[in-house]
Amino acid sequence: MVYYSPIAIVSLDLQNRIIACNPAFEKLFGYRQDEAIGQDLDSLIARGDLMAEAQGYTRAVLQGGTIRETGRRSRKDGSLVDVEIFGVPVIVAEEQVGVLALYNDITERKRAEDAIREARDQAIVLREVGEALSSTLRFEEVLDNLLEQLQRVVPYDSANFMLIKDGRAYPSRVRGYERFGANLANWVKAYSYEIEKTPNLQQMYQTRQPLYRADTSLDPHWVKLPQTAYIRSWAGLPVVIQDEVIGFFSLDKAEAGFYGAKHAEMLAVFGIQAALALQNATFYEDAQKRAREAETLRQAGAVVAATLEQQETILRILEQLTRVVPVDSAAVQLLRDEGGEKPYLEVVGGIGFKESVVGLQFSLDADDPSGAVIRTGATLIIKDIDVSPYRFRFRDSSKIRSWMGVPLIVRNRAIGLLSLDGYQVDYFNDEHGRLAAAFADHVAIAIENARLFEEVQKLAITDSLTALFNRHHFFTLAEREFDRAQRYKHPLSIVMLDIDDFKHFNDTYGHLIGDIVLRSVADRCRTHLRSVDIVGRYGGEEFIILLPDTGLLQAQQTAERLCQEIAEMKTDTEKGRLSLTVSLGVASLEDGVDDLTLEKLIDRADQALYLAKTRGKSQVSVWMRSADA
Ligand code: GH3
Ligand code: MG
Ligand code: MG
Repeated sequence: MVYYSPIAIVSLDLQNRIIACNPAFEKLFGYRQDEAIGQDLDSLIARGDLMAEAQGYTRAVLQGGTIRETGRRSRKDGSLVDVEIFGVPVIVAEEQVGVLALYNDITERKRAEDAIREARDQAIVLREVGEALSSTLRFEEVLDNLLEQLQRVVPYDSANFMLIKDGRAYPSRVRGYERFGANLANWVKAYSYEIEKTPNLQQMYQTRQPLYRADTSLDPHWVKLPQTAYIRSWAGLPVVIQDEVIGFFSLDKAEAGFYGAKHAEMLAVFGIQAALALQNATFYEDAQKRAREAETLRQAGAVVAATLEQQETILRILEQLTRVVPVDSAAVQLLRDEGGEKPYLEVVGGIGFKESVVGLQFSLDADDPSGAVIRTGATLIIKDIDVSPYRFRFRDSSKIRSWMGVPLIVRNRAIGLLSLDGYQVDYFNDEHGRLAAAFADHVAIAIENARLFEEVQKLAITDSLTALFNRHHFFTLAEREFDRAQRYKHPLSIVMLDIDDFKHFNDTYGHLIGDIVLRSVADRCRTHLRSVDIVGRYGGEEFIILLPDTGLLQAQQTAERLCQEIAEMKTDTEKGRLSLTVSLGVASLEDGVDDLTLEKLIDRADQALYLAKTRGKSQVSVWMRSADA
């Protein structure tokens, strides 16, 4: 069989006219040799918008330059093709006599690259959605939103949501009561109803349908209380999640005869939306907890071997590959060589297999075909695995009869391979090998990109020495918690930690030993704290800790314990078992104090830290109002 060069080649004179072209040129652009020869190359294949760019390249090469670019050119039939363009001057006896132009069809490559880009864009969008979600909503926030929306669907003067617990209904979120009494909202929240003894609630609990009382004074079941005497018309809506009534919306109007059947209908529709939103919020709270745990894991330096993103990219590339090289199954195997242990190959993605092959491992032994590809860095085609000198582990259980392995090369090093399987003997030919090799380049680039992407991602949020959140990311997370705490009047505390006499420590043992001990202090902070606590590196040897849902007393106790634990801790170094102490400052956002900003709170923790230092170090101080001078 004769192979023609797949690359279109044209030779040009100094006026950019075609002197000669090869068969691949005809195949790629559609012009026969006799049509092409004598024509201006750019007018032939760079029509319209493409002309200016092409002429630029032509000028550059005519002036003795060499170009290697990618671009788009037009075919005879008007269609467009993506090409890699090489332009080289032809020089005879130190004088340029012409130009050689080469065009490599990269349509497939572009398609693969687009697929990679698309996969990455999707991953980014997913992350952003996740971020957006995590900036919303706890269960109670959703309830507040719902109460607000409800007003637009079914008007009310005051309304609340009652959460059911152990047969009682507790109004937990309230809206609109201020108008009817200064402390009414608090009273409503403090009150609760035994469902069995409250006929209207009881009825909604059983029927799961909205209910209304046009005129409460005519309702024999109305529970008469002086605080709610203003309510003359009333409507209620049970909220059902996963077949369980979890609570009621309760709507009040001061005007008699207000609520009617129309409102009950609207409420029924609203009830479905509300249930969905609340269910999401419930799931979300779980998901957020898990996300926090994941963040903590990452913080702890746990290495996630293959990210979801990477897998997704690999699968897409394999799908693309099977369109070009029809295979029965294919896999991507990556070289794991983390030093120490024996290097091996691990499957990170596969297509066409009956069961998942992800995680399978292969050795680099001489008789392993994958190992051979890695060691030689060259494509290996096995026509019949039954008579090959290589050992195939799945020989008996699978239908695979022929095999091809193509190395994935990044910066001259084989990082893994593409393995392709055929159920027929002698399935793969050189053409397949060439195509697969081109693909392997893309896989290698995609994997390298994914790895870099992951690295950048990690760098962007953590500090490389301590693996704690960096200052920027700490603030991102902290702002979120702070807003939430303020809105819902939850307590929250900030602890600042600074190592005592660290300058002296460095002077005594050296900066490198200082780094080691600094890292072990960071590790200790992390292991000592809860997974919901946020720990960041604030400055050189200064850490900052945010404790959500934690009041001053509890924060102080946490700080005291941390202070003591670090003081008792010994770190093994080449200069011996070393220890040091830290000082801590604590400040809290307590219920009722709400004109405070995160920055001010941190400033208070800092002032408290300063106090701990002046009082002799190795201790905890809390911020007191008197210190606010
Ligand atoms: P004090 O008890 O008052 O905090 O005394 P100090 O010596 O610790 O003073 P200060 O906190 O102002 O000093 C910070 C010193 O910590 C300066 C620098 O030598 C050291 N340092 C800061 N960042 C690093 C780091 O990343 N690695 C090491 N080894 N040392 C650091
Ligand atoms: Mg210090
Ligand atoms: Mg310091």
